Amino acid sequence: MPHSNIIRNMKRGLLIIMSGPSGVGKGTVRLELVKDKKLNLFYSVSMTTRSPRPGEKDGSDYYFVSHEEFDKQIDDGNLLEWAEFVGNKYGTPKDKVEAKRNEGKNVLLEIEVKGTGQVLSKLQGDKDVISIFIAPPSIEELERRIRGRSTEPDEVIKKRLARCKAELELKSQYEYIVVNDDLAECVEEVKKIILSRMK
Ligand code: 5GP
Repeated sequence: MPHSNIIRNMKRGLLIIMSGPSGVGKGTVRLELVKDKKLNLFYSVSMTTRSPRPGEKDGSDYYFVSHEEFDKQIDDGNLLEWAEFVGNKYGTPKDKVEAKRNEGKNVLLEIEVKGTGQVLSKLQGDKDVISIFIAPPSIEELERRIRGRSTEPDEVIKKRLARCKAELELKSQYEYIVVNDDLAECVEEVKKIILSRMK
């Protein structure tokens, strides 16, 4: 067969949505997942109006933008989803998600519950969308972890805790719920889910 007639049948990548309340450890789970080359992941960097925390880098942790810039991105239709979270806006740039999935990469979104609702309804019927909720062993343990992290003022911590409770109520919209009691076990569980859906 002449070379020009060969079409490589590349499987479109998965879209993996991972959520969970503040302090549950999803950032750490994400870093572990991205390290595992078998998972073939592309982490979608979100856009936010929140200020960078110490050590956070523009373009790898988030794209840090002004409220004006964020609103322009919404108006221009550049976001797959967006939501407000404790006084700031967070959203997923649309262009890379599609491009990377078409290249066969599995795209990982780490977003909150309202944004997940938007993605699930926009991509209804797409069998390659996976939603995973990382849950804390208990609300008391979550509170201890958030306070232990203490990168934010008490006022913000209180708002985040209130929001956590609301998020936990919405976990039923997810296909999988994984409890992060032991980090290594939680990471293994999430990897197993992704690998099973890659087959
Ligand atoms: P943090 O300020 O702790 O980095 O993030 C606050 C919350 O916003 C977390 O639950 C995080 O998962 C969520 N988040 C981060 N990026 C996005 C995004 O692009 N869209 C939505 N809807 N939530 C996001």
